[in-house]
Amino acid sequence: MATLYIVPTPIGNLEDITLRALRVLREVALIAAEDTRTTRILLQHYSITTPLTSYHEHNKLIKLDRLFETLQTADVALVSDAGTPGISDPGYELILAAIERGIRVEPLPGASAIIPALVGSGLPTDGFVYLGFLPRKDKSLRQFLGTLQQERRTLLAYESPNRLTDTLAVLAEVFGDRQICVARELSKKFETFQRGRLTEVLAHYQAEPPRGEIVLVIAGAPPVEPVEWDEAQVIAALQERLDQGESLSSAARSIAAESGWDRRRVYALANK
Ligand code: SAM
Repeated sequence: MATLYIVPTPIGNLEDITLRALRVLREVALIAAEDTRTTRILLQHYSITTPLTSYHEHNKLIKLDRLFETLQTADVALVSDAGTPGISDPGYELILAAIERGIRVEPLPGASAIIPALVGSGLPTDGFVYLGFLPRKDKSLRQFLGTLQQERRTLLAYESPNRLTDTLAVLAEVFGDRQICVARELSKKFETFQRGRLTEVLAHYQAEPPRGEIVLVIAGAPPVEPVEWDEAQVIAALQERLDQGESLSSAARSIAAESGWDRRRVYALANK
């Protein structure tokens, strides 16, 4: 059975393509490319002459039949302009349709802007949430970020340079002055990591408007410090539960869980 290969391509530096990706691009019968002109430059660089067909945002549904016709007998590789297909790039519908038709899908590991931005940011890497491109309209952006206020994991988003300062200002308003890293022009000549508090990084880019491609890496929500109740709050809660007929041991257990007090301390207060 034929295979659909998902092939990552460089995000800036042409050397960032694996030996396996080059072999697959050479061996498949057809390469489905987001923009055939962009991919042709890459193929020419590596002297690859495999036929190309377009597969982009506007023809991705009508192209499915043609690609599956080829896949009946021969392997196809899917590439996007840069990075990993399907990651904020066309690919998802084709991959899903291939899986549904029982076609073998082989994704190759390779370049994507997310991982170098995350690991170079200095922010926690043990858990992260990839958000894709952020909403463009101010109101939608605020609503979207509002749903993420309590998210503890590191947040990653793609952003365009002309919206960067507006987005940083909204991020500071909604999230408070958290740490952020703006990872710019990864793997290219002017690669930079601008790290700091949101207001500091905002001031930097207000003074020096950014250019190029950008990934935002935003610190997750800080842990919420449990606030211990004072004695009056514990007494009031005890009184309320005992008045409702709850036993002292049950009331002390519940209050200990809510108040940050040790259960024995709650008991001792009840028996004062
Ligand atoms: N499929 C790609 C991937 O795997 O990363 C993403 C494609 S998306 C259409 C393009 C966005 O990715 C850019 O607007 C930018 O936010 C980010 N990006 C791509 N290349 C980058 C680079 N070299 N440096 C920083 N960000 C980059």
